[in-house]
Amino acid sequence: MPLKYLLPEDQLPSHWYNIIPDLPSPPAPVLHPGTLQPVKPDDLAPLFPMALIEQEMSSQREIPIPEEVRFALARWRPSPLFRAVALEQKLQTRSHIYYKYEGVSPSGSHKPNTAVPQAFYNAKAGVRRLATETGAGQWGCSLAFAGQLFGLAVTVYMVKISYEQKPYRRSLMRTWGAEVFASPTDKTNAGRTILGQDPRSNGSLGIAISEAVEDAATHEDTKYALGSVLNHVCLHQTVVGQEAQAQMKLAGEYPDVVIGCHGGGSNFAGIAFPFARDKMHGKKVRLVAAEPTSCPTLTRGVYAYDFGDTGKMTPLMKMHTLGHDFMPPGIHAGGLRYHGASPLVSQLVAAGLVEGIAYPQRACFEAAVLFAGAEGILPAPESSHAIKAAIEEARRADAEGQQRVILFNLSGHGHFDLGAYDQYLAGQLEDFEYPREAVEASMAKLPKVG
Ligand SMILES: *Cc1c(COP(=O)(O)O)cnc(C)c1O
Repeated sequence: MPLKYLLPEDQLPSHWYNIIPDLPSPPAPVLHPGTLQPVKPDDLAPLFPMALIEQEMSSQREIPIPEEVRFALARWRPSPLFRAVALEQKLQTRSHIYYKYEGVSPSGSHKPNTAVPQAFYNAKAGVRRLATETGAGQWGCSLAFAGQLFGLAVTVYMVKISYEQKPYRRSLMRTWGAEVFASPTDKTNAGRTILGQDPRSNGSLGIAISEAVEDAATHEDTKYALGSVLNHVCLHQTVVGQEAQAQMKLAGEYPDVVIGCHGGGSNFAGIAFPFARDKMHGKKVRLVAAEPTSCPTLTRGVYAYDFGDTGKMTPLMKMHTLGHDFMPPGIHAGGLRYHGASPLVSQLVAAGLVEGIAYPQRACFEAAVLFAGAEGILPAPESSHAIKAAIEEARRADAEGQQRVILFNLSGHGHFDLGAYDQYLAGQLEDFEYPREAVEASMAKLPKVG
């Protein structure tokens, strides 16, 4: 039985799949934070180059991938699809488990799939520098790498607690030429305001986004780049699911369930949207987004208009949210600590096409260690949520006397997260309950729209 399914370089997808024209209803408009009117392309021009703004709002089903971008992606794409035979044996399951592995990229996750085209379109528009935020450092590394490919300077506002906890991600960003600051900084109004309230603030993704957006908006030669959530980011990630479809065909199977972990929604969108297209055309397939119980955006959040950042500078998006003020507990899956979600994924959840599920931190590490022991790959703490969900699917199928085909996205490796594994192995890892009071306090501050 083959263990892996590989595609030749020339089968790297030629187009990105835009889900918008296939949705049951048009997406809710994005609103200007000042006027509360739908944003126009020009409103976004200080932050993004026009090519990306067009992709953000496009209703074209297939968008060609420029040759320069395909050439850059071909360094590691098409990524492998594995059949998890050893994991199946450990679980003694009758189900077939497949995983698409995105940890083969230079920075070790799916994020370069969008960092590369974002850097390409910015460079083409004559932009000199990109400003961005990063939590655990995966996105900052990916953009730093992409900046090198296309000759762009990159400034990263890194959430302070991660800046201190994950020094090697910081080193990698600097090796790839980026400038890295611990956020909140004293370089922006947004940062100074937070430091004024709490000089020892640990920072959050919401705060770091405010700083990066302000940096871009106040510098002529600088634009902003976001690693998840937005439509064009989800769009760029659809190479993952398109490849997986071709690889599942090589394996002669079609998944009963497709799983991704969910922070802002981009790796989930990447693997799931091409299958969602099949589902909306009548195919039977379940789509499952796995998130942490400590930041349960899809399973406990409301579907409402909210800001993407703490400083209320971004446009308002209709999405599942825990409120822009919500400060998630310090779990190790830093990439899943975001109060909001992709508006597209949120709409699919609201329409009943995607299911959310939440797992506590320790159960995910337990699944990750089981997986590493079977398959060898050490997963990112974020990806461990997808592994946990896949294992639960297999166990449930066995209990029901069924055999299922399960596909999940292994969004990255955990080679920079060994401190977290040490804590887990030493029995020192905390589990966080659902932070009900913090969520309720934050939800009370949702903007009143409509
Ligand atoms: C950033 C990150 C995530 C979460 O982001 P999404 O946009 O929800 O995919 C998941 N896995 C890894 C490895 C990451 O780096």
